[in-house]
Amino acid sequence: MNAVFPGSFDPITSGHMDVLTRAAKIFDHVTVTVMHNARKQGRHLFTLDERLEILREATAHFGNVSVDTFGGLLVDYMARQPGSVILRGLRAVSDYEYELQIAHLNRQIGDAETVFIMAATRWSFVSSSMIREIASYGGDVSEMVPRASAGALRRKHEDVYAEREAQNAGTH
Ligand code: ADP
Repeated sequence: MNAVFPGSFDPITSGHMDVLTRAAKIFDHVTVTVMHNARKQGRHLFTLDERLEILREATAHFGNVSVDTFGGLLVDYMARQPGSVILRGLRAVSDYEYELQIAHLNRQIGDAETVFIMAATRWSFVSSSMIREIASYGGDVSEMVPRASAGALRRKHEDVYAEREAQNAGTH
């Protein structure tokens, strides 16, 4: 059975990677799909192409994971691949209410089934938005994201990282 792991992945974190690693053992194939919406384009740190490139690099070692993108309704994407299920990660109760609503709606409007994988305790506090926030101040996020994301964040905030490192070097 195939699973589709949809999200914004701005950028992919170790939490996403953990869900993906576990799902890749359960499903025959997992497609990580960056859902994009032209109207929301400005709200992301990374462009769609950048996010796809990071994802391709981070998932290259899996034999049964591919990367894709879709700009419409998830149920329309799912209808193109009958028999596939939607894969989502659940961190805490705060995710649950939102995910429950979306899962019900996807079944209502598209008969699409959703499968959840519980986040690893270790990564349950990690979110792409928090990673973006820390990196915007030049903080070290390398433990919480795959190497491809860490490199891309560093390049995005090159000046901030250089300044913080120079400051820290000066204080030691
Ligand atoms: P979205 O914008 O659709 O929430 P994200 O890219 O933030 O997309 O997340 C995609 C999926 O991964 C969601 O199901 C989300 O709950 C899950 N997820 C996000 N962070 C983690 C994490 N640290 N551990 C496990 N699952 C996570």
